Amino acid sequence: MNRKYRKTIIAGNWKMNLLPSEVKGYGEKLKCLAPKVKWCEIVICPPSLMLQAALKTFSNARIHVGAQNICTEAKGAYTGEISAAQVKDLGAKYVIVGHSERRQYYGETDKQVNLKVNIAIENGLIPIICLGETLEQREMGITLDHIRLQLKIALSGVPADKIRKVVIAYEPVWAIGTGKTATSEEAGEVCKEIRAQLRSLYGARIARSISILYGGSMNGDNAAELLAQPDIDGGLIGGASLDPEKFYSIILAANQ
Ligand code: PEP
Repeated sequence: MNRKYRKTIIAGNWKMNLLPSEVKGYGEKLKCLAPKVKWCEIVICPPSLMLQAALKTFSNARIHVGAQNICTEAKGAYTGEISAAQVKDLGAKYVIVGHSERRQYYGETDKQVNLKVNIAIENGLIPIICLGETLEQREMGITLDHIRLQLKIALSGVPADKIRKVVIAYEPVWAIGTGKTATSEEAGEVCKEIRAQLRSLYGARIARSISILYGGSMNGDNAAELLAQPDIDGGLIGGASLDPEKFYSIILAANQ
């Protein structure tokens, strides 16, 4: 982490877990645990139909809310989709874009990720752009090439004056929900490369201001070591974000 230049962010991705009726209870517990956290920005990304409940619960706390996905299109006949403008209008601040589960299970392409990044920014949402290699790609030694390509496509058309409104999450696909975590060196190496590419695309000043998160089985035991890497500025947390106490142990680990 480098607090001098960029924000530390601890974001929870609930995926398709918890019920609307459980949001308030979760929120009260988290607010009790983390009443005045100043060392990082806390973000909760619930399923879309729980966004409103989460926004209400966290309205009196320093806890922000994000969606897990948005549509590539601005509005219209796209049954079942949710637009960036709708998410923004509710009051959410962030949106996860290009999560590997959307790429893997719903065939989301790099091109669609790019459209979502741009439409999120246009509507005043901060996209948390997920990048990550599969185990096969890591074993083939093409991790950095793959990440560079994903990043370049995701940011296509994003001008320099808007790029500060972007967060990157490095999430090795083989580490998500598997209990396998990248070592801090492995994660640190990829995040360093992401920053190097941001530097070559947007210059050093902008690159050093962008928060890069790690995601993939992060928990209270491994968070401190991962977050000690200079280019890892926070975490995107799935499983461990479902329990306020486990999530808070990661928030605490970010206080270093
Ligand atoms: C994620 O969903 O982004 C994630 C990192 O999940 P988990 O923490 O469960 O691996």
